[in-house]
This record gives sequence, structure tokens and C-alpha cells, in this order.
Amino acid sequence: MPELRSRQKTQNQNDDPALDAHALLAWYDRHARNLPWRVAPHERAKGVQPDPYRVWLSEIMLQQTTVAAVRDYYLKFTTRWPDVAALAAAPLDDVLAAWAGLGYYARARNLHACAQKVAERDGRFPTSADELQALPGIGPYTAAAIAAICYDEPIAVVDGNVERVMARFLALDKPVREVKDDIRSAVQAVVPGRSGDFAQAMMDLGASLCAPRAASCMLCPLQPDCRAAATGQPTDYPVKAVKADRPVRYGHAFVARRADGAVWLTKRPEKGLLAKMAGVPGSDWQDDKTAPAHPISADWKYRGTVVHVFTHFRLELDVWVADTDVQQPFEAGWWSAPKQWPGEALPSLFKKVLATTQK
Ligand code: SF4
Repeated sequence: MPELRSRQKTQNQNDDPALDAHALLAWYDRHARNLPWRVAPHERAKGVQPDPYRVWLSEIMLQQTTVAAVRDYYLKFTTRWPDVAALAAAPLDDVLAAWAGLGYYARARNLHACAQKVAERDGRFPTSADELQALPGIGPYTAAAIAAICYDEPIAVVDGNVERVMARFLALDKPVREVKDDIRSAVQAVVPGRSGDFAQAMMDLGASLCAPRAASCMLCPLQPDCRAAATGQPTDYPVKAVKADRPVRYGHAFVARRADGAVWLTKRPEKGLLAKMAGVPGSDWQDDKTAPAHPISADWKYRGTVVHVFTHFRLELDVWVADTDVQQPFEAGWWSAPKQWPGEALPSLFKKVLATTQK
């Protein structure tokens, strides 16, 4: 992995580009986003310290969502509970109600538990990333963000935005998930003295000029050394991971059909995939193809294979049809005429199965 320098632009032995942290900070000084939890760089330069309570609250809220979605919640929380002691003293139900709509309610519970832990420390957050991680709901990223932003700990703060910026800057030819450690090391190697502002500058760059679907390289302070910009196709990076093929499962569906066209339906088991829905009798769905074990004695005819893609696997279901005049061919179920099918709780898989019998 390249060695990057922050103090000056250099080329290392591998001729890897050097990230100019000072150019980035100069850009941040002019273009920092105005966020309600942020101390602007010119205020920071005058010695104004970020409030760890507000930084922590914003970072927890921002997990898996956007600044736009969080802003109003953040303002609501800080108006109602202006410090960590107030939040710790609030009933959990009130916190959960105020959180409603932000999703991931475990985060709200952890938020409250963390506030109580910090309140036990006289309202003082720990000042190092290591100690912060010991608190409920604070993972490595959030700990690094709080430690860098509030206490200028010289630590890499790497979120999805920063990963994208670095994958482009270095034109990494592997998907991000395969080079996470390398990206972290590369960022760590260039963290400058203003580590909190640097962390926020990287985040802002990823959220603005170096956005997922568009890169405004001509405006970017990293452009002179950016490999992806040099290719002319910066959004080709990060390289996408090849999606693992879904596993395939196989099974058989048995459609018993009466002379009037009605077919035998059953209710699926109480638990599992398509639980409690209507379907036709069938085999288990297995990893290997098996010969059909026809459930009743009849002239079963193969009508085709239905392919259906579930989230975690692809199903190939061989459909067999038999005409029968048996009153009750299977133990449980009911006859259903084609005109009744729209009113049955048939998932699309079984609609496809029945469609094969209508050809
Ligand atoms: S030059 Fe373009 S691709 Fe490179 S970091 Fe800046 S915006 Fe992203």
C-alpha cells in the first residue's frame, strides 16, 4: 500500500500519489458544511471546542442515514435535552418516542444507556477512541470520529465517504471491502495536526465534490494527484464487488386438477418462507436436484420449470400436473377453481406454478 505524506506533496518509491492534506484543509476552511453540531473551522481556529455530547449525538444519528434526515431530529433532541445529564435523566420511552422515524431502535436504546454511563462520569465523555469504544453503541468509527473532532486525536476516521475518496484517489483496483485496512492505513499516514478538521474535510469532500454518482474533479483540492481523475472516469471507482451468485435450490410442485379445472391448494406451514400463504403441495426445496416422489397415484405430467428468485436463493421448481377425480387427494387443503385464484393468498411463486397449468 502506498505511503502517503501530509506535510508536503511527495512521490514515494512506488510512485504512488501523495494526498495533500494541507490543500484539503485549505479547501475545508473555505467550504466546510454548516452543520448544527459542527464548530466551523474559523471558530475552531479561535479555540472554540466542539461539544462531545453534540458530536456524539450527531454521529449516532447519522449512522445509516443522511444529514438531511438527521438535522431536525438533532435539533429536537438538543432543545429538549441540552446536555448528556438531561438525556440520561429522561425516561427511555420519551427517548424512543423522540427517535421514532429514525429507525434502528437499538441505537436509541444504546444512546440512552450511553448517556447514563457518561452521566455517571459527571457528564464527561472519555477523550480517547479506545475508551470511547467501551461505551454502549459506540463502535470504532464513531469512537474515532468523536476523538478526532473533539480532542484532535490523530486517528483515521474512515466512513463510506472517505473510503470512496481514497479508492478514487489511489484508483484501487479491488472492491473497498477487500482493502479496508489498507485504506485506513493510508489515511492514518496522512492525518495532520488538525486531525478533527481533517476528518471532517474528508467527510465533506465525499459528501460533495466526490459524491457516489458524480465527481467534480475540477473543483477538488486532491485533483492534481488523483489517479481516478486522471483516468477521466473517476466514477468507475471504487471498483464494484462482484455479487456472489445466489445459491440454487430445487424442488417439485404437484398440481392435482379436477375435470372442472379446480386445483388442490394447501396452506403453507406456520413458520418459514411464505408462511401461512396458499400453495400447491410439493417437495422440500433442496440444494440438489432429486427425482419427483409423486404424492398420489396418477398420471403425472411435467409442465415445465418455474424459476423464482428469493433474497437468498434462486428456486427452480419442476411443475407436475395430474388429472384426478379423487375427492380429497391430499390430507389437508381445498379445491380452488381458476376464477377463485385471484382471491386466494397465493404468492407470486405459486401464481407462476398455476400459470403453467393454463398453457
Ligand atoms: S479529484 Fe475527483 S475523483 Fe479524485 S478525489 Fe477529487 S473529486 Fe474525487
